[in-house]
Amino acid sequence: MGFCMGVRRAVDMAWATLNRGTGGRIYSMGPLIHNPQVLEKLKRAGLTDLEEEAVSGSVPGDLNGSVVIIRAHGISPECEEDLLSRGASLADATCPKVKAGQLKARALAEYARTIFLAGEKDHAEVAGIRAYAVSAGRGPAGGGTECFVISGAEEAREQAERLFRKAPHAKTALLGQTTMPEDIYLSIAGEIRRYYPNLTIVDSLCRSAPQKAMQELCGKTDALIVAGGRSSANTRRLLGIAQELGKPAWLVETAAELPPEIARYPVVGLSAGASTPDEIIDGIENALLKL
Ligand code: SF4
Repeated sequence: MGFCMGVRRAVDMAWATLNRGTGGRIYSMGPLIHNPQVLEKLKRAGLTDLEEEAVSGSVPGDLNGSVVIIRAHGISPECEEDLLSRGASLADATCPKVKAGQLKARALAEYARTIFLAGEKDHAEVAGIRAYAVSAGRGPAGGGTECFVISGAEEAREQAERLFRKAPHAKTALLGQTTMPEDIYLSIAGEIRRYYPNLTIVDSLCRSAPQKAMQELCGKTDALIVAGGRSSANTRRLLGIAQELGKPAWLVETAAELPPEIARYPVVGLSAGASTPDEIIDGIENALLKL
């Protein structure tokens, strides 16, 4: 299991832009991928993280001649407008599945649907989708602007109950972060439907996300290694699935981090987050085979 389609597309787009050269600086909007080893290579080849530069205060206001690569998680419409107004050219690597969610959020908001967005509150993809929904209320069609980000069934029930008290006839819709596990998404939908039986449920989950395969792998193995960056939500979720199922599991970024005690387990499974490159997975697999 290596890069998913969306992350591979973003990384390929970055390398194509770097190899072609643009005569100006090449930025990504946030870390292009949650994998420190791949990020380091891209950085050495000339890719700069615009958000990181902004934190250190060294980004020029004028981005004329620069190319900004939008990563697979996407960005808000306001951020896109800001980059264009500062003269940047955009290379949009927003994953098509994420883009579909952004456009769906906008369309639902334009039709005055109150949106429940299931996902991680601080995740860039969620922030981007939410921004599409909220900004739709300012468009010519007007429309609803409420978009509640919820992370689980309990929170969904509380939020739906609160909304029901003030707007029992609201038209509601549910959208999810692409990597949301399907069982959690459906339990969120069930809670909202207790108050709003006509809830529109959008099929926004990504089947490339490897959670399902992880559950099957846990059933066949004695211990698990999850290969991927610690900053990747997707990789951490895979580790969480294994731990919830009671499997001894470790998250490693490289083969050098394999715990020695893994050799005690007769059958070891190897899984990887959506942004883990094949060469890292191969290195870990070879090291496991040697053990
Ligand atoms: S996990 Fe799915 S939605 Fe997310 S970037 Fe990869 S392909 Fe796109």
